[in-house]
Amino acid sequence: MGSLRVDEQWLEAFHGLLESSAYAVAFTGAGVSAESGIPTFRGNEGIWRKYPPALYGNLPGLALAFLFRKRRLARLASEVLTTLLDASPNPCHHALALLEREGPLRAVITQNVDDLHRAAGSIRVLELHGNAFRLRCSRCGLRMDVDRDKAREVREKLLKPDITRRGLLAALMEYAEACVSCGGRTRPDVVLFGESLPAETMNQAMEEASRCDLLLVLGTSSVVYPAAIIPRMALESGARLVEVNPQPSFVSARAHLRIPLPAGAFFASYLERFA
Ligand SMILES: [Zn+2]
Repeated sequence: MGSLRVDEQWLEAFHGLLESSAYAVAFTGAGVSAESGIPTFRGNEGIWRKYPPALYGNLPGLALAFLFRKRRLARLASEVLTTLLDASPNPCHHALALLEREGPLRAVITQNVDDLHRAAGSIRVLELHGNAFRLRCSRCGLRMDVDRDKAREVREKLLKPDITRRGLLAALMEYAEACVSCGGRTRPDVVLFGESLPAETMNQAMEEASRCDLLLVLGTSSVVYPAAIIPRMALESGARLVEVNPQPSFVSARAHLRIPLPAGAFFASYLERFA
């Protein structure tokens, strides 16, 4: 990060846009998590390279893995937990939390499931793909936060090299404990392959996109539907758009300001200069 030069003009232009905004919204993607040590799920280091999504990225696949590939499933679960537990917010997360407290930012719409926006202190976070540190009751729909200490204990159990199927089941059940309200089964509240996005959250996100006068598109190439809808709706409603991402995307041409840097690196300079 240190070698990246952050142009003073970008900082001034970005600050100017924020100052003239009454209702800003941020839209974040995998690039923001990557700077906190969470590899892009589909990237070269990504989890789906080692564990094909057709086998592990959906509930039926996971059930089969439980029956026939229990050690590999235990390894996958422990790797995901380790990655998530070891990650901490970077300057992008911190800046967005600050801009919500003291600036014009009203909401963060995120495609990330790592909970780092809330960890940094953001309050209004719309999680389009859910949250890995939350469970959802399959019967009554209640959502429950997962305690980090418990997640660490479960990870230790999953790491046992001689884990049995019973041991694996016990660890998974310990993580996905029964619903505190109805006793029903719970599952991680994340969107797996082939599942649709939470409709209510998506509606709120679209509402925010059409309401804002400034959209910050951070660390996302936003090419995948339905995420692609968010910048489009903001532009169609007349919002200005800032893109912070090393690679250009389909919104680049229509961005009022494009900063070709990783968001965390840019916001580190921004916080230094303006916070
Ligand atoms: Zn329930």
